[in-house]
Amino acid sequence: MSVDQRPPVTMEMIVALAKRRGFIFPGSDIYGGLANTWDFGPLGSEIKRNIRNAWWQFFVHQRADIVGIDGGILLHSKVWEASGHLNEFFDPLIDCRNCRARYRADNLVEDRLDRPAEGFSLEELDAILKEANLACPACGHREWTNVRQFNLMFQTHLGPLEESGTEVYLRPETAQNIFVNYKNVTQTTRVKVPFGIAQIGKAFRNEITPGNFIFRVLELEQMEIEYFIREQDWETTFEHWLNAKADFYRWIGLRPDRLRTREHEQDELSHYSKRTVDFEYEFPFGWKELSGLAYRTDFDLRQHQEHSGVDLTYYDQSNDERFLPHVIEPAIGVERLLLTLLLDAYHEEDVTDVNDKPYVRTVLRLHPRIAPFKVAVLPLSRKPELTGRAMEIVRELRTEMAVEYDETQSIGRRYRRQDEIGTPFCVTIDFDTLEDNAVTVRDRDTMVQDRIAIAELGDVLRERLAR
Ligand code: ATP
Repeated sequence: MSVDQRPPVTMEMIVALAKRRGFIFPGSDIYGGLANTWDFGPLGSEIKRNIRNAWWQFFVHQRADIVGIDGGILLHSKVWEASGHLNEFFDPLIDCRNCRARYRADNLVEDRLDRPAEGFSLEELDAILKEANLACPACGHREWTNVRQFNLMFQTHLGPLEESGTEVYLRPETAQNIFVNYKNVTQTTRVKVPFGIAQIGKAFRNEITPGNFIFRVLELEQMEIEYFIREQDWETTFEHWLNAKADFYRWIGLRPDRLRTREHEQDELSHYSKRTVDFEYEFPFGWKELSGLAYRTDFDLRQHQEHSGVDLTYYDQSNDERFLPHVIEPAIGVERLLLTLLLDAYHEEDVTDVNDKPYVRTVLRLHPRIAPFKVAVLPLSRKPELTGRAMEIVRELRTEMAVEYDETQSIGRRYRRQDEIGTPFCVTIDFDTLEDNAVTVRDRDTMVQDRIAIAELGDVLRERLAR
């Protein structure tokens, strides 16, 4: 069997696969969709769950120094005043006066003029765009409004009346729940600095230019850790987290050659950060941020201490010392990581089948930790002797892993379907099985098949899935 990698993966390939196989659907689909919202279908929701579980296992369960919380989406308005989001969480916005198309000014500068723009002031962006006399990508006219600020937080109201004073905001990041619960956690658990608090949850951003499928969405799920340290330890802790993040990406099977780190320039740092390093991935539309690592200093705890009037200092009994911890924050979005994993795993290959017939095989080489199903059980025919035996195996395997059962269509088509959805192993039950109590196990990546005794099947799969 010959195997060749065809041309590079495009967004169109991923979008088509996602729709065809039920990974991701447009939100509110039967009503024509709601712009830039997405729903995750049976396979997409399994992958999301696997991403969350892998992250939690790696950073919380496998470590002794990190605990989790699950905070609310609505927080007191004062939280956003203290965190700076009410005053600082803005994107620079510009409108075409002719067709009214709206853009993020910094994205226009980066993507159309190929110049850096993150962290630039409104005036600087305005000057760059005016000087370049850029044409509107939608209509070609060159009449623009000035660059203005646009707050990214979704606002709603508590109670039945939309009166002033009742405004609340859907959280634009999960981090602030952690800071406002920091004291609760230190008082109710045995954590000692250095320690971390982890959280996975929804965040909402009224992004001006979402797009590129699920790369930038309005409703995202963040996986964040606030890691509390002594100020003098920030540089070594930062290095530790750069490595820990790289280890995690390897652990879930991301290709290192499509990943790189990028240090933020001083003038593009967020208002709270002293150092930020992005992990970037080579998307089909260029190198873009996959995740961030930020040294937030003691900014957040200090702000919350001042605004709430509650003492948030940490008392170190062994040294009889009181101080405000500093914080290192690794943060990543589930949807963006899911897109990255799909792009990384997607392959189209020229292969020949068992009868030497050439065909193009689409295969998702997802890591077993991430694959929606770990194994598919496929009886060769629908004869009850075979399906009965197959179901016995399914029932047994389902006690410990996600198993797909499929008895429809030819075996070749069933293999192709499992390749497309990334199932690492197919187990085929044939008439010989009834005689020799063995099954054929097919490896998704090599397409190699071998015969395994049913009595050993569980152990063999467990061992191969853990590789
Ligand atoms: P960007 O520069 O792309 O807007 P950001 O620097 O504002 O992102 P952070 O606030 O650091 O992002 O959020 C942490 C992580 O959350 C990002 O690295 C990304 O993985 C994810 N993320 C942020 N915004 C979105 C979004 N609108 N859609 C999907 N994922 C997002």
